[in-house]
Amino acid sequence: MTVMFRRVAILGIGLIGSSIAHAIRAKKLAEHVTGYAKTEVTRAKALELGLVDAVFPSAAEAVLGADLIILCSPVGSYADLAREIAPGLMDGAILTDVGSVKGAVVRDVLPHVPAGVHFIPGHPIAGTEQSGPESGFAELFVNRWCILTPLADADPAAVERLSAFWRACGSNVEVMTPEHHDLVLAITSHLPHLIAYNIVSTAADLEEVTSSEVIKYSAGGFRDFTRIAASDPTMWRDVFLNNKDAVLEMLGRFSEDLSALQRAIRWGDGEALFNIFNRSRQIRRSIIAAGQDTAAPDFGRGAPKSQ
Ligand code: NAP
Repeated sequence: MTVMFRRVAILGIGLIGSSIAHAIRAKKLAEHVTGYAKTEVTRAKALELGLVDAVFPSAAEAVLGADLIILCSPVGSYADLAREIAPGLMDGAILTDVGSVKGAVVRDVLPHVPAGVHFIPGHPIAGTEQSGPESGFAELFVNRWCILTPLADADPAAVERLSAFWRACGSNVEVMTPEHHDLVLAITSHLPHLIAYNIVSTAADLEEVTSSEVIKYSAGGFRDFTRIAASDPTMWRDVFLNNKDAVLEMLGRFSEDLSALQRAIRWGDGEALFNIFNRSRQIRRSIIAAGQDTAAPDFGRGAPKSQ
């Protein structure tokens, strides 16, 4: 693969930032990678793992001379970061991000972007429930979608350059508006996380079922929610604070459908239950057919190792 950027600055070196760094290293996409992280522990780890060539305690320093800057911290931190880095951004540079919401990112970042800098928001639809610089890996983005939400007046050449970068990381790239992104992700990602957090919290509050029973019999379905509910609390707090309208819209629809299921159970309407469950199965099959998950039984896991 040929070098695509001279100097890439990664601001926030957690799961996503470190995975991008690994992918850049693996495919030799940049000559030089700089990083910024809030804590000394993460900065030291980023150097130790060889994720970056240089790491800085200030984002303003990390972006100097960079032709690609990627915000990889929780979205609630973007406004402050954008304000801080703005004076040091190079003319012609591409400023992008990986945040899980897009409308709020445009609202928070755009006012700080200097003329001559290409601001192209982005969101790789790839992740795990792990966080931190040690959790990243180069293949995270392979065969996953990356959504770019360029503004109406974005330079097509800059959008294509960023698209080519994500394709080189293994992703398929799709372009849409920030509003559409937020609506789609509200149902495909944000609501499932909210439901997982809620079911785990409900189980934790039960009095008649002991917590050891919840853990012991978790293979009945509960454990798959706990994986999602183990996701980073700061990141997800920021997602819900910043995609309020779309999440509330989807939550309203979800509550109506849940009430319909409740009624079908109460009235013993087996046909309604069967039809809904059967349709869900088709959706699962379509996800596998689209290469977005494995058909291996038990979600691809082997039997748990005994301690
Ligand atoms: P993560 O592993 O928790 O890493 C977050 C990084 O941001 C760390 O380097 C942390 O620094 C830094 N950070 C935290 N708070 C900060 C603040 N207030 N100011 C500046 N830096 C701060 O998170 P992640 O999973 O990589 O998520 C990062 C971004 O990717 C989020 O915007 C998220 O919405 C998006 N995203 C996540 C996923 C996913 O599945 N996880 C998928 C797609 C997109 P320290 O380590 O020094 O504290």
